[in-house]
Amino acid sequence: MNENWKPATRLVHAGQTRSEHGETSEALYLTQGFVYDSAEAAEARFAGDEPGYIYSRYANPTVSMFEERMRDLEGAEAAFGTASGMGAISSALLCDLKAGDHVVAARALFGSCRWVVEKLMPQFGIETTLVDGADMDAWKAAVRHNTKTLFLESPTNPTLELCDIAAVAALANENRARLVVDNVFATPIQQKPLELGAHTVVYSATKHIDGQGRCLGGIVLSDEEWLNDHYYDYFRHTGPSLSPFNAWVLLKGLETLPLRVAQQTANAAKVADHLAEHKAVSRVIYPGRDDHPQAELAKRQMTGGSTLVAFELAGGKASAFAFENALQLVAISNNLGDAKSLITHPATTTHKNLSDADRDTLGISPGMVRLSLGLEDADDLLADIEQALAKV
Ligand SMILES: *Cc1c(COP(=O)(O)O)cnc(C)c1O
Repeated sequence: MNENWKPATRLVHAGQTRSEHGETSEALYLTQGFVYDSAEAAEARFAGDEPGYIYSRYANPTVSMFEERMRDLEGAEAAFGTASGMGAISSALLCDLKAGDHVVAARALFGSCRWVVEKLMPQFGIETTLVDGADMDAWKAAVRHNTKTLFLESPTNPTLELCDIAAVAALANENRARLVVDNVFATPIQQKPLELGAHTVVYSATKHIDGQGRCLGGIVLSDEEWLNDHYYDYFRHTGPSLSPFNAWVLLKGLETLPLRVAQQTANAAKVADHLAEHKAVSRVIYPGRDDHPQAELAKRQMTGGSTLVAFELAGGKASAFAFENALQLVAISNNLGDAKSLITHPATTTHKNLSDADRDTLGISPGMVRLSLGLEDADDLLADIEQALAKV
């Protein structure tokens, strides 16, 4: 690897270790274990005196290639691939917390993340406080002497609200706490939380990194010291490990990630501008538009406007359902980041477990839909949206 190579080049080449066969594509090492030349060699490897693989729950050559390519992209010291985004997030949060510790999290979180913070952590005696992630005073007021971890997602799901990552990271440093950022919605192309001061970044690789709706995966990226001293034993002994097959699919996904994110973002921007002019739409939320309430922050910490658009239909739930059902090209799905455009009604699907009051606080109204833009031609997407809006 030439250190001067640019990100697009590195996403095709970084981390590849060729076998003695000189294969072009990354090799898929679909194996559970590894054999040793002698009993002495096994002893040396277990003692850590000799490098090499032991068991695929700990590490695997194909998974290592994916981890190295992601590490290079993110600018992190080290990385661990995981079976899913939730495998990454739950392990990154739980591995160094104990009873009596305190966690502050932005309340606009992916549903399962919110369950981990609100329901699971208190079962183990970990105290948690949820705050309005866009309100720095709320973050400051929530931090206590025993606060160990701050956790946020930006932009948030589904209302595409932003948190000021640099400001929350500074608050974490003042309190000797760590900031964990779920960077799924921004993608590693559009936002670099470690450069903004975050301590750990987590992804669901299921979304844009695969980007073609095939397999689950996740990754935890951080400094080497924390991953070695606080994360590795938890990971090794609880087993959220990434399948080598899925790692191989994700490696191929990384090769086209910048192209896909650029095209999906261009589609999202066009759709957002179109929706903003439509009378059936009462509100459009898109971080790349100047009318986004945090447009200035979006320009400061993101290099693109997101591949997703959220918007509200003036007629509430009935209109949202009529719109979804009338779409012919865009499919109804709770997934996102796919090559295929997907639409979700958060209030009745991804966020149905929240109380009405919690949904109100988050701004998830009955008329709101979340659109994840794919790789289709923008003209076809606009035509589909137009004909569906006409039926609302
Ligand atoms: C999908 C998603 C997750 C969970 O990822 P899985 O791969 O489904 O486990 C976490 N956070 C965000 C923001 C997501 O979109």
